Amino acid sequence: MRINLDTGRLILRPLTPDDAEAAFRWCGDPEVNRWMIYPLYHRVEDVRAWLESRDPDNPDSYDEGIVLKETGELIGSGGLVWHPERNAWMIGYNLRADQWGHGYTVEMLNALISHIRETRPVEAIEGVFAAENHRSQRVMEKMGMRYVGDTSYAKLDGSETFPARLYRRNFPQPPEKCLICDRIGLIQRKENPYFVRELETGYVVIGDHQRFEGYTLLLCKEHATELDQLSPDFRAAFLRDMAMTAEAVQKAFHPDKMNYELLGAGIGRHMHWHLFPRRAGDTPRPGPVWQVQDMNSEAWLPSPEKLEELKAALNTELDRLIPDGTK
Ligand SMILES: [Zn+2]
Repeated sequence: MRINLDTGRLILRPLTPDDAEAAFRWCGDPEVNRWMIYPLYHRVEDVRAWLESRDPDNPDSYDEGIVLKETGELIGSGGLVWHPERNAWMIGYNLRADQWGHGYTVEMLNALISHIRETRPVEAIEGVFAAENHRSQRVMEKMGMRYVGDTSYAKLDGSETFPARLYRRNFPQPPEKCLICDRIGLIQRKENPYFVRELETGYVVIGDHQRFEGYTLLLCKEHATELDQLSPDFRAAFLRDMAMTAEAVQKAFHPDKMNYELLGAGIGRHMHWHLFPRRAGDTPRPGPVWQVQDMNSEAWLPSPEKLEELKAALNTELDRLIPDGTK
């Protein structure tokens, strides 16, 4: 996208073919190119051809020239590109080697994220870096990103393949965009009567409608769609918290069988567990609860007294299950 953004120490602006010579200072530097996907440039004309091939009006790409205000020099390029299959903006950058170590990349990315947010949602950012590229790892940590998994990438000319790490950060969304973030906001403002307990990775709430008595949810603290968008530690703790909550539901409400469903809601489909206590004959046919038509009917809203009773029963069992010291 064509932007002109003052970030404090930098100006972000579109790259043009006239930037070829300045860009050659990083595109042609083996040190900068070490981990890059594109092969090293040996001629300014090739850099010019690359610059001419770019589409500066692509609405899904904010790949900008980075100008140091103090000197007016173009010192690098980078930004964020939309990856719908990951529901995330992928970060990328290269900076002249003599400009490393000043925090320019983090300044550039944070300013761009704020800018994009003015017109589009930014639910997550992701970045991939070669496992040995510790400098990029530090940039991602400074962006608040966390390791989510291993991957690999190859140079475009196939000359080298790098084992790599995928880092990600999920951003909470405004209440009107995400039902689950909205509910979490109500809990944090102490305005959610269904709230039972905060666990390490989520919030336990009694289901709005009690067609299946004891129906409980665990809302993930991260605004994320899939388990692979969580760091391994968080994911393991989230699954543990779910199992513990389900066990508490089971002990408090004595079903014949528990149902466990990880569904999504709102923009980006924020994941949350539905924990249904099931009893013989509780649906017209054996099978999932969703065959019941009147599940969300007002008739199944619990009275305030009943709601307090359900919450107390669940809290008592959670008290027994949560290890001492983490309550
Ligand atoms: Zn959300």
